[in-house]
Amino acid sequence: KPTVLSAKQHGIDPKLVSPNAIRVTSTLQEAGFKAFIVGGAVRDLLLGVKPKDFDVATNATPEQVRRLFRRAFIIGKRFQIVHVMFGQELIEVTTFRGASSAGAVKDEHGRVLRDNTFGEQHEDAVRRDFTINAMYYDPSSETVLDYHGGIADIRAKTLRIIGVPEERYREDPVRMLRIVRFAAKLKFEIEPHTREPIPVMAALINNVPSARLFDEMIKLLMSGHALACLQQLRKEGLHHGLLPLLDVVLEQPLGEKFVTLALSNTDLRVQQGKPVSPGFLFASLLWHQVLEKWNAYKKAGEFPIPALHLAADDVLDAQTDKLALQRKIASDMRDIWAMQPRFERRVGKSPYKLLEHLRLRAGYDFLLLRCASGEIDSEIGEWWTAFMEGDGTQREILIAQKP
Ligand code: ATP
Ligand code: MG
Repeated sequence: KPTVLSAKQHGIDPKLVSPNAIRVTSTLQEAGFKAFIVGGAVRDLLLGVKPKDFDVATNATPEQVRRLFRRAFIIGKRFQIVHVMFGQELIEVTTFRGASSAGAVKDEHGRVLRDNTFGEQHEDAVRRDFTINAMYYDPSSETVLDYHGGIADIRAKTLRIIGVPEERYREDPVRMLRIVRFAAKLKFEIEPHTREPIPVMAALINNVPSARLFDEMIKLLMSGHALACLQQLRKEGLHHGLLPLLDVVLEQPLGEKFVTLALSNTDLRVQQGKPVSPGFLFASLLWHQVLEKWNAYKKAGEFPIPALHLAADDVLDAQTDKLALQRKIASDMRDIWAMQPRFERRVGKSPYKLLEHLRLRAGYDFLLLRCASGEIDSEIGEWWTAFMEGDGTQREILIAQKP
């Protein structure tokens, strides 16, 4: 039986709730179904934070949900969910899941591959990951249903997994990465029993499909707290030998300053609501690995430009095994890297040609990071700032200054 909290007890500000999420719950309720806002949105509302997206849980089946809305699509194989669209806003609607994973299809390590059995609301609550993510909010009655002591944990700033920690990590090792992300982002402490098995079970992450790992890495890096997340990963013993990307990033003293700068820039941009490109982010994370290989190829007698391309190939190939870098992202990364030596050629027509490059802005921002980290002389960055801002005459003067 859940604890039921009234508006006065939970103190959620109704103005922070998306009108479209309310539209979805009330439409479902008017059709005779149960419907609640659930998960991260309730957690954020209780913390007084405006949720970035809303999930709804219901006892209606995906097909029943779909029929109630004009723009609704059933998606997903692992778990069927319904996407209800209102203009740009997407509300995810899931049907309550059954508690027992007895009917679930698992792999040889115990990871759940497929499970589409529906269940009761209290069973749905058990299936969620952390107590603070397992609360339900009904906007029409303004009540919160708390099944696992989530309210108390929110107040105590505690992250606690529901059920037996080892079992829950085995079912889905990504939960270990999620807990790190939440701890860093919310500045919550991980409860000791929840924390304890993590270093022991960390290796199970190897067994997660790369596409899912990639999605989780993106969430982590775009959370606005990427730097804190990476530090927390290290603290929990989750970085070593797991994700080749993180190994590279966290165990490379040379690149540390550069990566720290790149991530704090990214965090700032996210916090200011500015767009962040995954390509730029991954290009930064892997730059020092590229540099190292680039130098090795040059030493072996390659010309600089082909050497850089060979280095980029090596680095990208090594990542795609475990981390499914999407083609578009990989090509952005390559563009950003390939532009770097071109910034150093400041003679004749070269700088003008570079001005026409589609990704000049990203390449230039990257160049500034290299300057700020001390890798190259900041004079180059200053020169390019002046060149890009300058008019025709000023540009000619700048080029004339450079022999
Ligand atoms: P945010 O969206 O801020 O990253 P969130 O908690 O909303 O955080 P989502 O991935 O949107 O995270 O998931 C929504 C809800 O679904 C979660 O709050 C949780 O209840 C449940 N959930 C998500 N992933 C898992 C998982 N791996 N295991 C169990 N429950 C999960
Ligand atoms: Mg969410």
